[in-house]
Amino acid sequence: MSPVNLNLTLPGYRIVRVESNSLMRIYAAVVEAPGQCLCCGGVRLRSKGRYERRVRHLPCLGRPSELVIACRRYWCVDCRHSFVQPLPGILPGRHSSEPWRQSVYELHGDGVCASTLGEREGVDSSTVSRIYGQFTERKAKERLSLDCPRVLGIDEHTLHKSQRFATTFCDLKNHRVFDISPGRSEAELAGYLGSLRGRDKVRVVCIDLSNPYRSIVRRWFPRAMIVADRFHAIRLVGLHLMRLARQLCPQLAWNRSWLGLLRARWDRLDPEQRHRLKCLFARQPALEAIHEVKERLCSLLRLKNQRKRACRYLIQELLGHIESLRASGLQAARTLAKSLSEWIQEIALMWRFSRNNGITEGFHRKMKLIQRRAYGFRSFNNYRLRVIAQCG
Ligand SMILES: [Zn+2]
Repeated sequence: MSPVNLNLTLPGYRIVRVESNSLMRIYAAVVEAPGQCLCCGGVRLRSKGRYERRVRHLPCLGRPSELVIACRRYWCVDCRHSFVQPLPGILPGRHSSEPWRQSVYELHGDGVCASTLGEREGVDSSTVSRIYGQFTERKAKERLSLDCPRVLGIDEHTLHKSQRFATTFCDLKNHRVFDISPGRSEAELAGYLGSLRGRDKVRVVCIDLSNPYRSIVRRWFPRAMIVADRFHAIRLVGLHLMRLARQLCPQLAWNRSWLGLLRARWDRLDPEQRHRLKCLFARQPALEAIHEVKERLCSLLRLKNQRKRACRYLIQELLGHIESLRASGLQAARTLAKSLSEWIQEIALMWRFSRNNGITEGFHRKMKLIQRRAYGFRSFNNYRLRVIAQCG
């Protein structure tokens, strides 16, 4: 085989010859010799002798390959230091090239387990884990030097079986996870929040209707607007009104299909489902009133990208709903009225924007899969690295 036709996928080398056995051995030389000293930049260099570097490289023609690179050690006349020649695409002290390491990292990231991948590549599974760790660590380090995103979504998620919580910081503008941190209370998060860069540049923070997060944002992101999360606001309405419906009509507890019909959006029901719901209302007139309140409130909360003036009218409408919920005298309705009136400012801002934590919720699903694929994580740092590598 003519060595010229072989593409090394590693720029900066010239192929000298190729030995083809069960292992492809490619003899190569660096195209450009170093022009100056690495230490002082002097140009008067003497060769101190030749040596060979052998590194693992990407498979060639379906066979594993090894690069044998002829190198030199140099000595600088000016500063009297000696140094080895730097090699493009191969880091000092490594026994494998960066493209090969990158491919191992990507395959492991795509779900090929460390032992299978190690067997296939003829290395130990711990080597695979170490390479993966080094690449993710590199990515996480880049994250440290980044400023906090300007549109931030904050939400909590659970860490496998145990009742531990973690907080997700999501970049809602670029659709990626910025970082995760253990815990969900201010005491647990203070250390992380204190180390965040560019906190004062955050413009919008989207949170679910939870008081601890609200006080955290007020304290740590002083210039940010707090926006209620649409998904959580609508879920809250559904939750309280369904509780009320079950109190008024205890049969709902064992009739899941009725509950499903009540929960669903009216405009998404097919004619047959609408008919069934109307039959239910004929039997239980109280449910019809609850359903109507739910539909009105939810369609109000679903609005987005509204102008300032429109929001003023919408607030009036929401206040009217809150007042009638309060006047009903029912416990679940009063609790809902209380939560909504406490969050009215954040809900009004929610109408102005279109962003919401739906993106964060999507990432939480992916994080659950990451946890599951690893059969849980003992170390939070390993989990964090993996989340940043795959969702960041
Ligand atoms: Zn020098």
